[in-house]
Amino acid sequence: MSAADLHTHTLASDGTTTPAENVRLAAAAGLQAVAITDHDTTAGWDEAMAAGRRWGIEVIGGIELSTEHDGAGIHLLGYWLDPADPDLVAECARLRGERWRRARTMIARLQQAGVSIDAERVQALAGDAPVGRPHLAAALVEAGVVADTDAAFVHYLGEGAPAYEPKRAVSPVAGVRLIRAAGGVAVLAHPGLSGAGARPGAVGSGAGPGPEGSDAAAERAAGGVPVALLDALTEAGLAGVECDHPAHPPAVRDRWRALADARDLQATGSSDFHGARKDAAIGACVTPAGVLAALRARSGSGLQRRARSSW
Ligand code: AMP
Ligand code: ZN
Ligand code: FE
Ligand code: FE
Repeated sequence: MSAADLHTHTLASDGTTTPAENVRLAAAAGLQAVAITDHDTTAGWDEAMAAGRRWGIEVIGGIELSTEHDGAGIHLLGYWLDPADPDLVAECARLRGERWRRARTMIARLQQAGVSIDAERVQALAGDAPVGRPHLAAALVEAGVVADTDAAFVHYLGEGAPAYEPKRAVSPVAGVRLIRAAGGVAVLAHPGLSGAGARPGAVGSGAGPGPEGSDAAAERAAGGVPVALLDALTEAGLAGVECDHPAHPPAVRDRWRALADARDLQATGSSDFHGARKDAAIGACVTPAGVLAALRARSGSGLQRRARSSW
C-alpha cells in the first residue's frame, strides 16, 4: 500500500535539510508522495519538485500557515495552492516582518531574564528563512544557556514560558479562506498540540459561561484545538485533520480521527519532519493513498494542480 508524508520542513524555514534532501529521503522510505510544508513560505518548492522528477516521486507544493486564535498559535497546512496568489504572498511577506518583530521582543525578554543572545547570530542562523523559535533555540544552545532545543522551549520559548511572544496573525477561519482562495486544500495541523494557550471562556474555547457540562470538562482535559473552532473551520471549507502526528499519543489520534470522521474530514498522517531538530524521520507517520486522492479531488483544476506538484 503506498502512502504519502504530507508535512515536512526544510532549510527554507526551520528544518535542517535541503528541499532536495527531503525528497531523496521520502523516495528512500518508499513513499509515493511528499509535501514540502515550510512555515509561511513556498521558497523550497522549485528545488523539491526538480528533485521529485529526478527520484521518481511526487512532490506536492505545500505550506504551513501561521494563524492565531485567542492568543494561541494554530497551524494550517495548505496543499496545491498558487504560490503567486497575491493575498497569500502578501500575508507571507507580512508574517516574515512580524516574525522579526516577535524575535526581537523575545530576545529583549531573554535579556530581562539575564540571558543574552545576539540578534545578528539569530539572523545568521535563520539565513533566508522566516525566523522562528527554533532559530532562537539554536542560539541559546550555542551560547551554552541550555543543553538542547527541548530545554530552550521548556525554560524560555514555549507558550507560557517567560520569553514567549505570540505571532500576530490572521484567524484560523481567515487562514482556511486564504488557502482556498489561492486554489489550495486546507488541513488542520497537529490539533492535539495547538491551542493550549487559548484563553478559557473565550469564544470557541469550548468553555462557555454557566455550569460546565461534562463535554466541556472532557474537552479541556484533552487540550488542543477547541471543537467549536474545528466546526468553524469545517464551515469555512477545511478538508482534513492531521490526526497521526509523532507527538500525538494514541488516545489523541483516536479522538481526532473520530472528530474528523463525524464531519466528513479526511484524517491525514505526517511526520512534521524538521531534520536534526526533531526525532521523527520522514515517513514516521503517513497518509494512505486513498486519503491523498480525496484531498486532491478537492483542489483546483487538473492543469493548475499539475503546476503545483511535480506529478
Ligand atoms: P514558531 O513558528 O516560531 O512559533 O516556531 C514553531 C516551531 O517551533 C515548530 O514548528 C517546531 O519546529 C518548534 N517547536 C514548537 N514547540 C516546540 C517544543 N516544545 N520543543 C521543540 N520544538 C518546538
Ligand atoms: Zn517548525
Ligand atoms: Fe506546526
Ligand atoms: Fe510543522
